[in-house]
Amino acid sequence: MYKSPRGTSDILPENQMYWRILNKNIEKISLEFAYERIDTPIIEDANLFVRGIGELTDIVEKETYTFKDRGDNLLTLRPEGTAPICRAYLQHGMQNSTQPTRLYYVLPNFRYERPQSGRYRQHHQFGAENIGESDPYIDCEIIEYAWRFLQSVGLSMLNLEINSIGDKKCRPKYITDLKEYYNSQSNNLCKDCTRRLNNNTLRLLDCKNSDCQEIISKAPNNLDYLCNECKAHWQLLLLYLKDIKLPYKINSRLVRGFDYYTRTVFEISSKSNSSPIAIAGGGRYDGLIQELGGPETPGIGFGIGIERVILELKNQKVSIPKNNKNKVVIASIGVESRHISMHISSILRKNGITTIVGPSSKNLRRQLKYASSINSTHVIIIGDEEIQKNTLIIKNLTSGVQNIIPNISDEIIKILK
Ligand SMILES: [Zn+2]
Ligand SMILES: [Zn+2]
Repeated sequence: MYKSPRGTSDILPENQMYWRILNKNIEKISLEFAYERIDTPIIEDANLFVRGIGELTDIVEKETYTFKDRGDNLLTLRPEGTAPICRAYLQHGMQNSTQPTRLYYVLPNFRYERPQSGRYRQHHQFGAENIGESDPYIDCEIIEYAWRFLQSVGLSMLNLEINSIGDKKCRPKYITDLKEYYNSQSNNLCKDCTRRLNNNTLRLLDCKNSDCQEIISKAPNNLDYLCNECKAHWQLLLLYLKDIKLPYKINSRLVRGFDYYTRTVFEISSKSNSSPIAIAGGGRYDGLIQELGGPETPGIGFGIGIERVILELKNQKVSIPKNNKNKVVIASIGVESRHISMHISSILRKNGITTIVGPSSKNLRRQLKYASSINSTHVIIIGDEEIQKNTLIIKNLTSGVQNIIPNISDEIIKILK
């Protein structure tokens, strides 16, 4: 027997209601914030991610699905959303239209990671990017957009953490000091931290190893290192968040896994669990477009893990409205009755009523049983007597009420609608 590859899953019909509600709200909230949808290919030039994420990050080193196609092109299944959007932005000359550009996407990402709860090798991401504006009102807009979406689907107990990690002017000094501090602690570091110390120093601050927590708590604080421009940007962002009454927590240890982030970084997690899971994360990436060969262009975005949102909706026992539209089964007895059934079913569907013709191999009693087993709301019965009088029986399975009505489409539709 074949199984879906490790770390991937089928989205079965009984779970589709979550996806429906999420997609509906993604569209609704994106429209409110005036972001337009973009879809990019699942495969990209492998170098896009080497340039865009950083050669020495965990993702590019160990987690991408990279392969040569039959034409010898080195391709990567997209591991994250931002670099492909920036590639598309440049490729289609979006910088030449009115700025900033506001884009959102819902696409699968692929990472070869150890699968665990809420983390898959193929996972789906709702993301948004705002490219072309560096003013912090945009940072506030992006954070509010992510927050509003999570609230719109029914999540509560959310926690927003923010930080500023500086820019290419002030960050080098911080990283130098951080490295120096960590070198003085090198005997007590975990294996991951030792490995990252020289080429991904910022990431040491979000090590989850319990032995590293005390070292982290005593590390130099990056907010003390911000240059005047970064400090002004940061303080204005905090004021804007106050303007929209969005509660936040400053976490000076919050960093992101990619090299291209500058200034604002943020994360939204849920407080419903003892160990909070991050549901949304994002930040500013003013250096990325240039890294990809474009002009110096500011940008900021977020990514929300759809599977994590669904996990959290289940955790918080959020009730998702079921599709409670009428569903009709037409039970027929005999050949002529079946012809009438086919005719009526076609008309009902054209009028937006979900209609199933009952299984012809079963007798009337079994067709009724079938109707209730698939949760239909009504059954239409066409027996010999009904054919003769040109009527039909319509039974409401919820109330048990049964009526005989003339076989006229308008009459049937009136009752079912
Ligand atoms: Zn560590
Ligand atoms: Zn700075």
